[in-house]
Amino acid sequence: MADPFNFSNPLVLGEQSEYVPCALCGARDEESLFPALDKMFPGPERFSAVRCRRCGLVYLNPRPAREAHAAFYGGGYYCSADNAARAQPLEHYRPVIEFLEAERKSGAPGRVLDIGTGNSPFLPRMRELGWQVGGTEVDADLVDLFSKRHQIELYHGELEDAGLAGGSFDAVTVMGVLEHVPNPRSLLEEACRVLRPDGVMGLWCFNRSIEADLLGRFWLGFDTPRHLYSFSRRTLERLLKETGFVVEKLLFPPVNYLFYSGVWAAVRLRRRFRGGVHDPSDSGQPVYVPTLPFLLEKASLPLGILLAKMGRSSNMYVFARKRGPT
Ligand SMILES: [Zn+2]
Repeated sequence: MADPFNFSNPLVLGEQSEYVPCALCGARDEESLFPALDKMFPGPERFSAVRCRRCGLVYLNPRPAREAHAAFYGGGYYCSADNAARAQPLEHYRPVIEFLEAERKSGAPGRVLDIGTGNSPFLPRMRELGWQVGGTEVDADLVDLFSKRHQIELYHGELEDAGLAGGSFDAVTVMGVLEHVPNPRSLLEEACRVLRPDGVMGLWCFNRSIEADLLGRFWLGFDTPRHLYSFSRRTLERLLKETGFVVEKLLFPPVNYLFYSGVWAAVRLRRRFRGGVHDPSDSGQPVYVPTLPFLLEKASLPLGILLAKMGRSSNMYVFARKRGPT
């Protein structure tokens, strides 16, 4: 039977795509998991999700090369300058804020660097709490927007190019970023370098666990092709250890995407049958998953709580410290 989620076009990026070795163990020994569509903006490109046979890391291969990758953050992406209203609410950052506040030496102003700030309300809140704040952002429009809105100047570009002084921050944060960057190892190494000895990092990302295995290509926690990686607790902990961090605490919120992934699949299928094999006019129209009815939303909560208690929910907050000299 034809695959209804195969939009019938092979990978068309050509020279704009690249093959990469595993970012965790360096091997080129991968098994194919599934063809990965663009989850938000229907289009002709297809990618391949693979799992490293040596270390278990899941990633896109082939994937869009750096220049081509930027084009997948079209208007309407929740973290873009023309869609600022869809930014994550402050509540989303609360566990990280509480962790950093508990770390701050009494009365002393802390310095925090947020990597990949986007349009998040995190830095303005930290400034209110008395922190000196800095951030980086690759999207020039977001840098402008953030400056106008909050009078906070972000560094425009990748952290690795910012030339920050070593040991100059008490805390760094990496929230909703690690899956998106081409080289998560170099980002974390640089984050570690700019931290003072004993400095801390707050990180939030999706957690590849039971739900991801169950839902496969439909799992919304792997937003291909914007997400180039899909970390599990085990693969992330290994990467943090190898880049100079000691994980102190993990927190699993009761988030699950079971129903939402089903709704997403239904929306995509409906468009497919309305638009034929692939309707070019559909390109650029983001697929937002409608908010679930209240009861359905609540119906998924017990499952979320259970998975969270098992450390297997679809999100994770990770709190780590820069490892001292051994
Ligand atoms: Zn590997």
